Amino acid sequence: MNAHVEQLEFQAEARQLLDLMVHSIYSNKDSFLRELISNASDALDKLRIEAFRDKDLDVDTTDLHIKIEVDTDARTLTVRDNGIGMTRAEVVDLIGTLAKSGTAELREQLRAARNAAASQELIGQFGIGFYSTFMAADKVELLTRKAGESAATRWESSGEGTYTIASVDDAPQGTAVTLHLKPADAEDELHDYTSQAKIKDLVKKYSDFIAWPIRMDVERRRPPENEGGDEVVTTETETLNSMKALWARPTDEVSDEEYQEFYKHIAHAWDEPLEIIPMKAEGTFEYQALLFIPSHAPFDLFNRDTTGIQLYVKRVFIMDDCDQLMPDYLRFIKGVVDAQDMSLNVSREILQQDRQVKAIRRRLTKKVLSTVKDLQSERPEDYRALWAQFGRVLKEGLLSDFDNQDTLLRICSFASTRSEEQTATLAEYVERMKDGQKQIFYATGESRQQLLKSPHLEAFKAKGYEVLLLTDPVDEVWVGTISEFDGKPLQSVARGEVDLDSEEETNTAEREEQEKEFAGLLTWLQQTLADHVKEVRLSTRLTESPACLVTDTFGITPALARIYQASGQEVPVGKRTLELNPNHPLVTGLRRAHDDRGEEPALIETAELLYGTALLAEGGTPDDPAKFAALLAERLARTV
Ligand code: ADP
Ligand code: MG
Repeated sequence: MNAHVEQLEFQAEARQLLDLMVHSIYSNKDSFLRELISNASDALDKLRIEAFRDKDLDVDTTDLHIKIEVDTDARTLTVRDNGIGMTRAEVVDLIGTLAKSGTAELREQLRAARNAAASQELIGQFGIGFYSTFMAADKVELLTRKAGESAATRWESSGEGTYTIASVDDAPQGTAVTLHLKPADAEDELHDYTSQAKIKDLVKKYSDFIAWPIRMDVERRRPPENEGGDEVVTTETETLNSMKALWARPTDEVSDEEYQEFYKHIAHAWDEPLEIIPMKAEGTFEYQALLFIPSHAPFDLFNRDTTGIQLYVKRVFIMDDCDQLMPDYLRFIKGVVDAQDMSLNVSREILQQDRQVKAIRRRLTKKVLSTVKDLQSERPEDYRALWAQFGRVLKEGLLSDFDNQDTLLRICSFASTRSEEQTATLAEYVERMKDGQKQIFYATGESRQQLLKSPHLEAFKAKGYEVLLLTDPVDEVWVGTISEFDGKPLQSVARGEVDLDSEEETNTAEREEQEKEFAGLLTWLQQTLADHVKEVRLSTRLTESPACLVTDTFGITPALARIYQASGQEVPVGKRTLELNPNHPLVTGLRRAHDDRGEEPALIETAELLYGTALLAEGGTPDDPAKFAALLAERLARTV
């Protein structure tokens, strides 16, 4: 019957993962059953949709179900579905390779996960669907036939680097996965999965909400009907799950465990949700929703552009990843939306235009944001965990969601100069502002370390002003579009003129004197460095460094220009202002030299060195690094 048996190797990452499974000490080995049922349920959903869309597809969809079969003697467990099935190529693609996990991060972690505890963690973190069968089985067979095709495929592996694959002529449509079970081992938390009682238990616990019947033939023994007669054994097919849609049940009747298992099914996740958000709307647009905030970011959060919302219409699954229902910046939210008055026929294109979808999306967005806000005040630990995982994504909303900008600003938190460990919300910052302080000061840059050393921060540190330290690329962009919070302007430490002295502290006479003293030097420098800077002025920002570069209030910073460039837009960086520290020996020395020796060529070099150092101090590069290095070497040679 086997036309052609081929032995193939698992892709490298898949092999590592399998190895991890085979030798797993993961304590929750039961979860393989949940994964198999979850896959079967997905396959049934897909078939129903496919049959609905493709009227020519010749399949029987009248009794879609999942069947569990145990064979105590052979010690096998089979999970069978009459769903969409897979072609041979799909089996190779979906099972033989690690389709979703070819990313650097998983590979990296797999390499690092040499010890048992680390591997346990990894299983929990990445969620390892089909392969989890190898925690319980030493051989797994998969027999599948895709809906609409006649040839079927048999796949088999003992999880050791290779698998065999063969085309077979006849098999029922759908997929059957058979596990040749390892011996039960209570110490290893490996239960006896041939026990019907155990299977019933597990289905009830993990998969009760699955929308398709999960059936098992259950033997019933009754005592003999008359004395001396035989025990009466009958077999009945039992449906093990209630199939009740979790989102449609009253929340006080659903246990936390049930919510958690549902989350794992729809999110294909293994973590626990950080928060569960049930919603119900009546009136014009009737719908129910059940949303989850995950506790861990998926490792590909920044590379994915799909959201995690499933759309149902009147309990019928319509589509995964329904982008229209959640803004991009909430793409980490998982859940389902079940709409009452939508056509089963909806397509993504129709959804885009749909008024009802837009209304639902607005409501879901507001609800998620208000939930985060509640976490912030009621469960600060959880809020911090959420922010650490998803803050960078949430901040994208500051750029795209103007309706919710104020709420978003309130739920954001930022690193600040005040504490290395604790972040600050804008409200907390405002609360702590110094007497007379009118602005919220922030600095943008690549890292906390770099910012703390930046010359722009010197006077702020010296005078005890708190400065927010914004180090995500998205920060550079949103600060350009939002100008205030609660009536307090947001002010970059590297932009415009700052005046940190209170009115009493300002010594106007002394300043005027300095301006006069330095006037000649400033004019000359401005001419000399005209190619690089638009203005040269005395600084009130600097206490230690000789000079720094300052962007105009509305100018484009070099960092912002780099971000635009990365997205393919060319934006010219405007010339900036060079500020000098009138108390620094290099600056006072230069002033004297300029007064005494006027146009001496060496002074021009000093001016260029001064400008280059200002660029270096903010983490930039001199315009002509080789020339800068040569000038510097020559100067140093004279001092050694
Ligand atoms: P996930 O379910 O998160 O995608 P899995 O490892 O559980 O990851 O499954 C990998 C893929 O194999 C699924 O996405 C699906 O395409 C395919 N698959 C697994 N089980 C079945 C099944 N019973 N019927 C059809 N396809 C399946
Ligand atoms: Mg799965």
